[in-house]
Amino acid sequence: MREIDIFDTTLRDGEQQPGLNLNLDEKLEIAKQLDRLGVNIIEAGFPASNDGDFHSVQKIARAVKNSTVTGLSRVVKKDIDTAYEALKDTANPRIHIFIATSDIHIKHKLLMTQQEVLDAAVEAVRYAKQKFPVVQFSAEDACRTSWDFLTKISSEVIRAGVDVINLPDTVGYTTPNEIKAMFQHMKQHVHDVEKIKLSAHNHDDLGMAVANSLAAIEGGADQVECTINGIGERAGNASLEEIAVALQIRKDYYAANSTLKLNELKRTSNLVSKLTGTIVPGNKAIVGANAFAHESGIHQDGVLKESTTYEIITPELVGVEKNSLPLGKLSGKHAFKTKITELGFELEEEDLKRVFKAFKDLAHKKKSVTDDDIFALLTAEKSGSQSGMYELKSLQVNVATQENVIQTATVIVRTPDGEEIQEAATGKGSVEAVYNTLSRLIGEPIQLEDYRIQSVTGGEDALAEVVVHLTYNDESSLGRGTAHDVLEASAFAYLNAVNRIISGNPTKEPIEELV
Ligand SMILES: [Zn+2]
Repeated sequence: MREIDIFDTTLRDGEQQPGLNLNLDEKLEIAKQLDRLGVNIIEAGFPASNDGDFHSVQKIARAVKNSTVTGLSRVVKKDIDTAYEALKDTANPRIHIFIATSDIHIKHKLLMTQQEVLDAAVEAVRYAKQKFPVVQFSAEDACRTSWDFLTKISSEVIRAGVDVINLPDTVGYTTPNEIKAMFQHMKQHVHDVEKIKLSAHNHDDLGMAVANSLAAIEGGADQVECTINGIGERAGNASLEEIAVALQIRKDYYAANSTLKLNELKRTSNLVSKLTGTIVPGNKAIVGANAFAHESGIHQDGVLKESTTYEIITPELVGVEKNSLPLGKLSGKHAFKTKITELGFELEEEDLKRVFKAFKDLAHKKKSVTDDDIFALLTAEKSGSQSGMYELKSLQVNVATQENVIQTATVIVRTPDGEEIQEAATGKGSVEAVYNTLSRLIGEPIQLEDYRIQSVTGGEDALAEVVVHLTYNDESSLGRGTAHDVLEASAFAYLNAVNRIISGNPTKEPIEELV
């Protein structure tokens, strides 16, 4: 049985998803969960792209215990040096160097010749090899690169000491048969290819990222790059959970395996979904809410008689838990602490106090507090209470359904300077009234691009989760808010997005098109 390395790029390629901007705490939380899931390599960011990325890669590199941590780098010494500074404290550092190899990129983007690209790649690998035990090279847009040049540059970087060669389908263009043939060709023609690992990295523009990754494995790839829930640039990347479970369920066919703890998949998916504000569709394979729901009477009957009639994957395999005992308003701190440990969180005393208080508040409004509620409280944004940021102090809204009656909101906010100010404004709807008031309080034009709301659980007393995407000071930002009341959750999300911008953590512009 072959063993496939799982290279997770949720925090690098996944973070290139439009509008997404994770803060350092959120990135650390995701990295720790990826470590727990057992991914072989975590790509933590692109250290030379900006200071924020440098610091988060460094923090992740220091926090992760088992996985290899890597950072992206262009074929320039400055990038490699910066990546080294960010990664040198981790147990298993790796650098990931890339340059485009397709004619279309070389001619129109790089304005270089093939020879210049080859020389730059070889020199960068040789330089990186002096600093890093493991060097990975990516031939950006490999699937639109001539096989001759791809073979040549691969052979040359192997001679320069590379350990892993990644052949990305950067634009999501290839098909399963083509990519399998490409990997087979490389396995046959690249000089000394048996000394290194080949890797695949697929985008989902044509909906084939997972199929292409599996086909690449058939063709000889020993590593696949993917993201949790398939998040990423444009249509996203290959879904880690789909590849991992396909390898497990169809072991008979692929004769390949990963070392992931599959029963951590559901939790990882939930965490990434919450922290990135990216909702997982109900019909998403493996981790969607309906992935294990049988609606048809014939199917239900079959599953009850013999589950394998219609169920190829058990919910337990991927960590979908049968509902455990909910907590209520009489539950004490000890029960609460046990529950959050069960849910996989470790909290500092101060955070524990804060979340326990939020739990107690919720338990007074909601009859039973489920695992999903507590998960939502634990992943709810907390930055609003920090100094130097906007904090919602009070919110009052007059709502009426009669025609010609305008909704009015009155809001008190603590400003980043610590001053409490009050403002009122109207709107055609209650959320609009709240947002008009907040916009007036902040005093800059704020453009709301997107607003989404969902309930954490079913039932009338469910928690509301709001995700907004807005533009403020020419920077775009995503904000999250969780509360029992939808208007309060809406206000939290709005202020959260603004706070992310003023704290210098806006959606970053990538230096250029990346692998
Ligand atoms: Zn990519």
